Amino acid sequence: MSFSTLGLSAPLLQAVIDQQYSKPSPVQEQAIPALLRGKDVLGIARTGSGKTAGYVLPVLQLCQRRVEKKDRHVRVLVMVSTRELAVQVGEVFNIFSVHLPYKIKTMAVYGGVSINPQMMSLHGTDVLVATPGRLLDLIDSRAIHLSEIEILVLDEADKMLNLGFKEEMDKIFALLPSKRQNALFTATASDDIQDMQKHLLNRPVTIEI
Ligand code: AMP
Repeated sequence: MSFSTLGLSAPLLQAVIDQQYSKPSPVQEQAIPALLRGKDVLGIARTGSGKTAGYVLPVLQLCQRRVEKKDRHVRVLVMVSTRELAVQVGEVFNIFSVHLPYKIKTMAVYGGVSINPQMMSLHGTDVLVATPGRLLDLIDSRAIHLSEIEILVLDEADKMLNLGFKEEMDKIFALLPSKRQNALFTATASDDIQDMQKHLLNRPVTIEI
């Protein structure tokens, strides 16, 4: 199996070559074509499995469709548990965006730092990577709205629940449009995760590594 058989466009394949990835990992082999087909995905996969590129690459390709210069809004929301992961995932989006014909702006927002600079930089953001608490603060301040989110990704969903973010996450889910594509990645399939995925995902392709 090679990256070129997964349905990715030339600019993304070039970025993969730049990263010197020689072949897709098992989670990438399954997640990339499923997400490109518009399917929801449930990925039971740990850090180190290559799950990040498994959703970043197809999400960037889906973002290239219907990019219009005017009236840009946040179309992709990636929810993560920690500031470190937010920064790291934001970097992966930037690394794989470099050759795209339509520039995609990714921004990472997280707590523990001042909110004002984040508010000022949000304009024109296509992909928002966020921790739940800070995202709610930005929504409450009317710096952002979620009514036009097309794709929701939960990265390390089990960790978000373990850190006590369930209430914040539920508030955020209630603000999302009902028609959207979803991907949920988790290292464990606990009862709480089962409940969440039943509620969030629509006939997902399940990937268990
Ligand atoms: P992740 O599980 O997404 O945190 O990725 C773990 C590490 O694997 C990261 O350092 C990636 O850069 C690297 N990686 C992801 N996919 C591949 C691949 N197909 N080939 C080689 N390295 C990869």
